[in-house]
Amino acid sequence: CLPEPCGGWLSESSSSDESCESLYRVVLLGDPGVGKTSLVNLFAGVQEKDSLEQQREDTYERTLSVDGEETTLVVIDTWEAEKRSSEEDNWLHNYCMQVGNAYVIVYSITDRGSFESASELRIQLRRTRQAENIPIILVGNKTDLVRSREVSVEEGRACAVVFDCKFIETSAALQHNVTELFEGVVRQIRLRQDSKEA
Ligand code: GDP
Repeated sequence: CLPEPCGGWLSESSSSDESCESLYRVVLLGDPGVGKTSLVNLFAGVQEKDSLEQQREDTYERTLSVDGEETTLVVIDTWEAEKRSSEEDNWLHNYCMQVGNAYVIVYSITDRGSFESASELRIQLRRTRQAENIPIILVGNKTDLVRSREVSVEEGRACAVVFDCKFIETSAALQHNVTELFEGVVRQIRLRQDSKEA
């Protein structure tokens, strides 16, 4: 099991040892409006109608079968929210930086500022989790908005090389590459597990 306890985010009950083996926390980071919640809703299979009717959830759990093996991801989408004090924000930001077994840093390809924030977040992560080799996936979302593109695929890819992370472009609106993104997260986690055990 990875160093962090594998129970759900803020959950009272702890997981059994058995489920602990393949349950991982994935934290979504990125500027407001880049599409984090839309991506996680697709991952969790939440319909637009449901999410409007229900209170917004902060964590989503789903078991994926990838390459014939099951893995449960608990995806945490709490990076920013309205109506929080800066003290609560600080606490949550620190918490998010500490608890992830993997990180998905999202920017919008239509917003260069969000791309720059993604680099900042990568640097913060490196500082906070210095000694650990945590999987990080850089995601350029909103590829359907072709005419508003401000960040090229090449720039995204180059940034991922510099920051030593994986890269994928997605469109939550078109449901393009979203499954691939979360399957990629699982594969990256497994790769590191395997190399640790070797
Ligand atoms: P968050 O603040 O990062 O969680 O972003 P949201 O998921 O709330 O999305 C912000 C806005 O961008 C919403 O209006 C979404 O419908 C829209 N959005 C999210 N992903 C996409 C996408 O891939 N394409 C387009 N065109 N809009 C998107």
